[in-house]
Amino acid sequence: MFCTHLHIDHTGWNTVLRDGRWVPTFPNAKYVFHKKEYAAWEAEHARGANPPGTVFPNNCLPIVEAGQALLVDDDYALDDTITLTPTPGHSPCHCCVNIFSRGQRAVVAGDLMHHAIQCREPDWSAKPDWDAKQSAVSRRKFFAEVADTDTLILPVHFPAPTVGLIKADGSAFDYRFKRDD
Ligand SMILES: [Zn+2]
Repeated sequence: MFCTHLHIDHTGWNTVLRDGRWVPTFPNAKYVFHKKEYAAWEAEHARGANPPGTVFPNNCLPIVEAGQALLVDDDYALDDTITLTPTPGHSPCHCCVNIFSRGQRAVVAGDLMHHAIQCREPDWSAKPDWDAKQSAVSRRKFFAEVADTDTLILPVHFPAPTVGLIKADGSAFDYRFKRDD
């Protein structure tokens, strides 16, 4: 299990409340968290910051306590099919997850962007972003890397059909939803 970052809508299913305790939902799984993302929220929690509210103690810490967390660095690779692309900004160490298969690449983009308009306007950062400027830097860098390639983008908050391609258009980019037709 990969968590692109440790916000509630990307970690809520990590744990379930059982007999009054938050425990891993999947007892046999390893959960992959970026080491510095985890450390940042641990520090925020320690100083009583809210947000992230209960996300750290309820949905992240129990995974580590159960020995099921894999705390990894930027260069982590599960094998030659799953790797990370660091895209910090939305959260301290947000990562996109690359999936390579049969010569194709797809990218689970997490919350690198929330709306396709952010391809036209990469500098428009979402309100909850941890570091709005860094978020924009990560978007531009990522878009430039995948623009005009056949890399499939999976931005989790986009409406159906969700998956699409990035096209360059001058200094901006376009998001082209991929439809079955
Ligand atoms: Zn988020």
